[in-house]
Amino acid sequence: MNDTLGQIVYQPTNALEALWFNFVDYFGEDFLISYGTFFAHEIFYFLAFLPFFLCDFVHALRKYKIQPTKVNDWKTQFNCLLKVMGTHIFVQLPMMIVFHPAIHSIGLRARVPLPSGWYLLFVLAVSFVLEDAYFYFVHRFLHQGFWYKYIHKVHHDHASPFGMAAEYAHPIETLILGVGTCLGPFLLSRDLFTLWAWLAVRLFQTVECHSGYDFPWNPTKLIPFWGGAHFHDFHHETFVGNYSSTFTYFDRLFGTSDKYYARMEMRKKEEELLANKKAK
Ligand SMILES: [Zn+2]
Ligand SMILES: [Zn+2]
Repeated sequence: MNDTLGQIVYQPTNALEALWFNFVDYFGEDFLISYGTFFAHEIFYFLAFLPFFLCDFVHALRKYKIQPTKVNDWKTQFNCLLKVMGTHIFVQLPMMIVFHPAIHSIGLRARVPLPSGWYLLFVLAVSFVLEDAYFYFVHRFLHQGFWYKYIHKVHHDHASPFGMAAEYAHPIETLILGVGTCLGPFLLSRDLFTLWAWLAVRLFQTVECHSGYDFPWNPTKLIPFWGGAHFHDFHHETFVGNYSSTFTYFDRLFGTSDKYYARMEMRKKEEELLANKKAK
């Protein structure tokens, strides 16, 4: 815990802060920064996947599948689970332990008081923008020759993705793209609570992007330039374009989503023609 603890008696100002204070006091800051972040990541990742996994058993939701003819069988999902867990345990966890002294030395702490709601929202929003910018250029680079053939191709094993496939990737890709995930919280706050809040929303976003479902009531559709599952699914289906992780503006700016929008336009015209035929 930061220097507020241990030197003066700290009085939490609300129930959440009291809970966090006792939680950090019980487990210890060092344990929470390394192992705690690993467990938090596992909980957020699989909790985010669970609703989409259950959707596969609800027939009424089939119409929201982006690629309705593609079925991800048990074997595919189990194989994905093994590889994802392998990367988490043998790459992410050792990374968190090895880099713990460095992370500590640049100032990451389990601080109290907790950040205000508005500041947290600001950090999360900026983190999304920074991660998306980093992801766009690095991801586009990973589609070049050697990098695609030996590294990024693994992530493209699933042409019809499902939530758990979000972090199905070569360990080197996990390391490279992990830098973008750390940019926002490390540049802006270096606070463990903020880092975990960011992990929760970023993991939900990437799992949703790979879910294979496009629900019209999804509230993220209200966020300007938000890509979402439909946008990223196109990247998996066609292997090109739509390189951003979250927003659409970089792909728009550099013309890498032209094929996607052309297809959307074509489908719209086909649907209009069909509707006109039915009306006659
Ligand atoms: Zn790709
Ligand atoms: Zn993907």
